[in-house]
Amino acid sequence: MFTADLTRQEALPPAAIEAVNAVLQSGRLHRYEPLDNAEPETAALEREYANWQAAPYCLALASGGQALQIAMRAAGVKPGDPVLANAFTLAPVPGAIAAVGAEARLVEINEDLVIDLDDLAAKADQAKVLMLSHMRGHQCDMDALMEIANAAGLIVIEDCAHTMGATWRGVKSGNFGHAGCFSTQSYKHINSGEGGLLTSADPEFMARAIVLSGAYMLYERHGARPSLEVFDPIRLNTPNMSARMDNVRAAMLRPQLLELDENIRRWNKIHDRIVDGIDHLAKIRLPQRSSKKHYVGSSLQFIVKGLTPAQGEGLVADMAARGIALKWFGATEPKGYTSSFDSWEYLPEQSLPVTRAILDGLFDLRLPLTLDDDDCDLIAAHICEALEALAQAGGIK
Ligand SMILES: *Cc1c(COP(=O)(O)O)cnc(C)c1O
Repeated sequence: MFTADLTRQEALPPAAIEAVNAVLQSGRLHRYEPLDNAEPETAALEREYANWQAAPYCLALASGGQALQIAMRAAGVKPGDPVLANAFTLAPVPGAIAAVGAEARLVEINEDLVIDLDDLAAKADQAKVLMLSHMRGHQCDMDALMEIANAAGLIVIEDCAHTMGATWRGVKSGNFGHAGCFSTQSYKHINSGEGGLLTSADPEFMARAIVLSGAYMLYERHGARPSLEVFDPIRLNTPNMSARMDNVRAAMLRPQLLELDENIRRWNKIHDRIVDGIDHLAKIRLPQRSSKKHYVGSSLQFIVKGLTPAQGEGLVADMAARGIALKWFGATEPKGYTSSFDSWEYLPEQSLPVTRAILDGLFDLRLPLTLDDDDCDLIAAHICEALEALAQAGGIK
């Protein structure tokens, strides 16, 4: 029986707790409260994240979902506009598209859990913006994608909620498209409970995003902003949408940024150890990753092909009895975060048979850093046993 807690986060580093205490002591929690000559935590986070990400501009926001919304608005998405998005993503992505009044047009994925570039090329003329979600850390061939996008004049906004710190050809995820959107919600790579970051190299785009985020007329106090004259044509015709981050969250994130590279190494050790224990199984398919890709193994996916709904439910139940809350994207009723495109009833109905077939066999496990080697080995052993039992009982294809 597996008894470790798969939802347990690590405690925040002592430096984060001290920094939060200092902000609380000061009483200056709002990002625009002046700090007699000192740099506010939120501005410092923007400066440091821009530097870490190797992006010229960075804006700290209230959530990852707000980063997606502000990015679409700053890119000029208007109510009624179609926005392309890969069909395998998390609910905040179609939610952000709905929040700006746009209409999601979904693109198929393939068995490596990335956007299907042929389907993208076929649909590229249907929208001005592609919201590309690197769901569960899987990045497509970014060079091939940008070629399609550039040829079609498609603006790419990257949802990097699961790829903070990941690279393609050595370039950080989020730096290929027009903007990168990151989440600092507890289940992502740095943890402030809720929070988001938006990066870009386009000065006008970032000026609009900063004003949209609710800068009042205090955008001068931002930590990684374009020069002030860029704001002149933007400041009065861009609405304030109040999506700011506060100094408390920024204070707890800055020390975590210093540990992120080491934590990525730890995540990959956990991920790869479990994969080593299950990749001999003939019944499953693990998403393949190009050697150009450096991933962050903060979660694990495998596909079991030819499952009936009853077998899928049976596998989830068997794993639960072993103490492991395996998630399944094939369930008819969405549970927790595993909702899929056909449960988002507010979207126009669309047919994505390839994605549906993949999701029907797709299992998912988030991997907290609190897992040790024995935990990893036990998880792998349980997955092997449960699949063996399933194969013997009914014979999965
Ligand atoms: C978490 C997440 C988001 C949004 O982040 P929040 O900070 O929760 O709003 C966006 N996309 C994906 C794929 C996510 O997992």
